[in-house]
Amino acid sequence: MDVREGEIMKDKRKQTNDSRDLLARVSDVSTDSEYFSPIPTGYRKGKCRYVIVMGTVMSGLGKGIFSSCLAKLLQDKGLKVAPIKLEGYLNVDSGTLNPFRHGEVFVLDDGMECDMDLGTYERMLDQDLSRSNFCTSGQIYSEVLNKERHGDYLGRDVQMIPHVTGEVKLRLRRLAMESEADVVFVEIGGTVGDLENAFYIEAMRELAYEEGLNSCCFVALTYILEPSTLGEQKSKAAQLGLKQLMQLGIQPDIIACRCEHPVSEQARQKVSVYSNVPLKRVFSMHDSASIYMIPSLLRECGLDFEVLRLLKIEDRIDLRTERDQWARWCDFTDRIGKDTREVTVGITGKYTSVRDSYASILNALEHAGIALGYKVRICWIETTEVTERNVAVYLKGVDGIIVPGGFGTRGTEGKITCIHYVREHKIPYLGLCLGFQMAVIEFARNVCGLTKAQSTEIEPGCIEPVIDILPEQKQIEGLGGNMRLGGHDIRIKPDTMAWKIFGQEESVRMRFRHRYEVDPKYIEALEKGGIMFSGKAPEYPIMQILEIPSHPFFMGTQAHPCLTSRPLHPHPMFVGLVAAAGCKRYPQENLQDSIEACQGCIRHYCV
Ligand code: GLN
Repeated sequence: MDVREGEIMKDKRKQTNDSRDLLARVSDVSTDSEYFSPIPTGYRKGKCRYVIVMGTVMSGLGKGIFSSCLAKLLQDKGLKVAPIKLEGYLNVDSGTLNPFRHGEVFVLDDGMECDMDLGTYERMLDQDLSRSNFCTSGQIYSEVLNKERHGDYLGRDVQMIPHVTGEVKLRLRRLAMESEADVVFVEIGGTVGDLENAFYIEAMRELAYEEGLNSCCFVALTYILEPSTLGEQKSKAAQLGLKQLMQLGIQPDIIACRCEHPVSEQARQKVSVYSNVPLKRVFSMHDSASIYMIPSLLRECGLDFEVLRLLKIEDRIDLRTERDQWARWCDFTDRIGKDTREVTVGITGKYTSVRDSYASILNALEHAGIALGYKVRICWIETTEVTERNVAVYLKGVDGIIVPGGFGTRGTEGKITCIHYVREHKIPYLGLCLGFQMAVIEFARNVCGLTKAQSTEIEPGCIEPVIDILPEQKQIEGLGGNMRLGGHDIRIKPDTMAWKIFGQEESVRMRFRHRYEVDPKYIEALEKGGIMFSGKAPEYPIMQILEIPSHPFFMGTQAHPCLTSRPLHPHPMFVGLVAAAGCKRYPQENLQDSIEACQGCIRHYCV
């Protein structure tokens, strides 16, 4: 065979492969029947079961919390679980969402910017998630439109049912296959009755039908009103919400009633009668001191076994694993609320009125506080009014401060002033991302004599741009596409504070979400002034952790360590801050000893 012939053969082979690919793609698309349901090749019906959590009455009731707690109980029994959040909005990810409206943007290791509920799942399950665990209407519609342009629907008119709902089911089944999960936990954002999530609910109805009996367990979260003028619990709104769900063809199996106080038997009975759900499966999910107490509430009511029975997977569990896991979890929860000492940590930021925008930081502080035996009180500091003159008043009584991440210019001078104060008054400091950048600017101005030091994000034409846009990002324009995102390794310099708190490890991993960084040409001047860059990117001159050795605890990081703090693995940087704040408050405490006491749970962060 000559060369030309060989080429032709190769070409033919390629063509056949291409058309095979196309056929493979559309083979599961039944074009002439109404049973359109793309199923990934290799998917085995029945291997994976689904728990589907939906909200009625109103959003923000804690579907993610309920779902993650239930998932945790099944995971503890040795089952593999995979959560997925289905968001109603049309954004493809959460990158451009305002945390003031939607809560913090949570970043996964693979760089996906997603809803803060994914943080709840990661913390509760102690499991890293990826983009396959987060889905928005925007992603679903884009996929459907791409397929349409690609000719994948073979002449059919593309419709909400079956094509859009088909795409949703495909996403869930793919996740089931990739994760090899025993149970996929599906959380539908918003509330039943929202126009934007109606197709998700329909897709779930179809899924339950296609997967067959005992394949899906539907959980409805609802709200019991308790008007103070009446002094009794009212279930009417809950009943109406559940009715709406049932009108969509979904019979809930479990109902979780959110309420400030434990829901009375009578109110639960009303809900039960109205929705055909046995009373034992109408659960009171009242306010609790910590969300980490909810798994034991669910367990006490036997909801975990109810789900296993409904899904007929009791035979898959391993009770010995459950015993060990539960003991480990209880070691942690037993310490909640048992603290006899407290510290106050000030947090500066522009979203000070909305706790959700700082959810991960608050969680990380809680984890560190529980590990060290401190109740951590938070003092919010609105920095727009802070000046050199009044800063001492604003920071009165705080044992440590955090300047968290943020974008834009509002309040930045006030933050710099706070940092100046805590640096000079030896108050423990932790700067996160923007807080790291502000610490560099403060140090450059007040120690290195670069009085005009600034970030180009705040003042694009500034004279001393100590913080500037990343070289590789300079060409990319527009929001949403030009961030350094996701998990990156950090090389830690030996014999530094960072090295100590990370248990003398030389490489750790943290998550990033930033566009600006320290301009390498200022590093020498900054280091000469007494700053130490104790964490750097292994291959680039990107400064990732800074500290001031002459200060009891002054640390900043370009990363967001709060995103990876877990109840059983408090993040070393938060442990460091809270321990240092404790030493400030209780001078007999020793920083090194406190950190060492937590070292066991800290190993987790090393790569
Ligand atoms: N605005 C800064 C940057 O883009 C900090 C970002 C952040 O705090 N997440 O680099």
